[in-house]
Amino acid sequence: MNSGNEIVFLNGSFLRREEAAVPALDRGFMFADGVYEVLRSYRGSLFEQAAHIERLRRSLREIRIGQGAADGIEEIIPGLLERNGLAESEALVYIQITRGAAPRTHQFPVPETTPTVYAHAVPFDPPFEQRDRGIPVILVPDTRWKRCDIKSIALLPNILARQMAEDAGAGESIFIRDGMVTEGSSSTFCAVFSGTVVTHPESNVVLSGITKRVVFDLCTRTGIPVAERPFREDELTRAAEMMLLSTTREVMPIISVDGMEVGDGTPGQLTRKIQAAFSEVIRSV
Ligand code: PMP
Repeated sequence: MNSGNEIVFLNGSFLRREEAAVPALDRGFMFADGVYEVLRSYRGSLFEQAAHIERLRRSLREIRIGQGAADGIEEIIPGLLERNGLAESEALVYIQITRGAAPRTHQFPVPETTPTVYAHAVPFDPPFEQRDRGIPVILVPDTRWKRCDIKSIALLPNILARQMAEDAGAGESIFIRDGMVTEGSSSTFCAVFSGTVVTHPESNVVLSGITKRVVFDLCTRTGIPVAERPFREDELTRAAEMMLLSTTREVMPIISVDGMEVGDGTPGQLTRKIQAAFSEVIRSV
């Protein structure tokens, strides 16, 4: 693919990326007043598209942007993949909807304001090596708001946390809120306690992960015990294995936390089993 010819979608049109511009008063630019989604395309097949669109619609509902903004999104994506020569390869699709451009006021603009709808598709290089070896993570305070269930484009706490991980030579930061482990800066966090894969329950302090839903269904069907219950940071010392789940990282083993090895410092057995089962799912999409 020639990145100079990248075609993006903006407000009803396919445009060259250089031509795609939004007004300076767009509320996405002014206030991060918008929501987004990231989907994975495997050889042209969109993974869990319906679940991603459903989550996008939920995010819109929660921030009170009209549902009409998401109409027709499903039809745009194949067009984007096709136009960018990605119909047969690995790609990431990004969708963003903001409350639109309007004179700058904190309260909502007039109801006639049209939401800004943007989407792009880019080639994706899966992190095979990291998935094989596992990654170190660090624990950081969860400085986010109390509506982490909304996939808001306001990502400053996530960005700062992720940079802290980079600075520490780690692959992800795991948020701690009131002593409890919530999630990664852009991933679902799971720990294995006594053979059960445990993650924080769905609530206002975590995003409802689509990869997690797929993995937990898979575990249930293959007899791997799972639980969604809150757990404390200090319980992590008893975890035999840990992993991250996300659209981009799929099933990512964690091999150390704040420099302390998890298990023997290599990806755990259950993690490997789940990775293998997930790969099977991907092969058949
Ligand atoms: N939590 C956060 C904060 C995220 O940004 C992501 C990535 N979208 C996830 C969890 C994992 O969600 P998914 O499996 O749907 O990609």
